Amino acid sequence: WIKEMAQRAAVNDAAGPKRTARVRVAVRLRPYMDKQDEKSEGPCVRGLGPQTLEIVNWRNATETLQYQFDVFHGEQTTQQEVFLSSVKPIIPHILNGQNASVFAYGPTGAGKTHTMLGSQEQPGVIPRAVREVFQLVRAQVKEQNEWEFSVGMSYLEIYNEKVLDLLSPKSQDLPIREDKDKNIIIPGLTHTPLSSFSDFHTHFVPASLNRTTASTKLNQRSSRSHAILLMKVVKCQRVPPHRQQTGKLYLVDLAGSEDNRRTGNQGIRLKESGAINLSLFTLSKVVDCLNTGTGGRVPYRDSKLTRLLQDSLGGSAHSVMITNIAPEYTYYFDTFTALNFAAKSKQIINRPFVRETVLAPMNGKRSREEQDAGGSGEHQ
Ligand code: ADP
Ligand code: MG
Repeated sequence: WIKEMAQRAAVNDAAGPKRTARVRVAVRLRPYMDKQDEKSEGPCVRGLGPQTLEIVNWRNATETLQYQFDVFHGEQTTQQEVFLSSVKPIIPHILNGQNASVFAYGPTGAGKTHTMLGSQEQPGVIPRAVREVFQLVRAQVKEQNEWEFSVGMSYLEIYNEKVLDLLSPKSQDLPIREDKDKNIIIPGLTHTPLSSFSDFHTHFVPASLNRTTASTKLNQRSSRSHAILLMKVVKCQRVPPHRQQTGKLYLVDLAGSEDNRRTGNQGIRLKESGAINLSLFTLSKVVDCLNTGTGGRVPYRDSKLTRLLQDSLGGSAHSVMITNIAPEYTYYFDTFTALNFAAKSKQIINRPFVRETVLAPMNGKRSREEQDAGGSGEHQ
């Protein structure tokens, strides 16, 4: 009996109601792109190791700023590596009735959509995570007979603090509610049952294309709205007492984090910026609050985005924020802001930024083996 009580106490300590999970923060630097660098100034950021990078100090050119994160993904990092290190480990929890969320944060042009969606040749987090969900479910079904699984998706957008159903484009702003068990629900949101990855593909692709076409007509809407894919796994016991567990995975391509006041947007766009900033600003407050663990109220209710994610961000949920940054000077101030948000620590180094050793953009393709053998970084 004593042993049992001790075990129970240990479990309570580990997962007691007071515990709120940290949000893991990864930073991904995309490769340098000539086209983005009108003045040909070269990169102003470079990776130093698996957790650190450095950036020019704009206040004092004789100094460099070094930042540390949970994970740093350098410009050579593949889509597969990002998935394996930042996303794959959290997916099994969805099959156990727990919630999780993955966000891509950062200025427009820094690689959020590349990270989340990717391309046919370089699929991103979304297709890989969905495949993984189906693989895990299949393995579970093979292994045991007690539980039955069903997988489904919803796909929505938060634009101007409105919640829009991307699987039912004509729908109006949807309400966000909380049920008696503190689960966040959106009554009226389309939920599409899925039986395979190709099933997912069939529903997801036209919906995401809808979003892209709308975007060019409406002031690059895609950079101003949050695109949210929800994968839901419901697990039902085949035998009495027929217990049921639901796990949710949110995969979010956030609106651009750039400061719209500087780019001189006016009128409707300024109003949009305000709304976007409210959701992003609140998200950063929520993440800060969870990660510094200062206690007090987490301001989930202050924006639609954070309200929607309340049951899948912090608490007992597993969350990862991938902060995307670009190396060109054009992005400097937005990079700087994003890094200050993402950083675990920051340090001033008393020497100028060493541009010569930054990895040059790749000419032709080199294999990873060559890079691993140390053939990188010397040229330029
Ligand atoms: P965002 O969604 O943040 O606005 P995108 O994902 O559209 O940015 O990226 C901007 C451009 O940079 C795209 O052409 C994209 O293909 C390219 N890009 C972004 N990240 C990478 C990367 N890690 N490797 C190669 N190309 C990238
Ligand atoms: Mg994008």
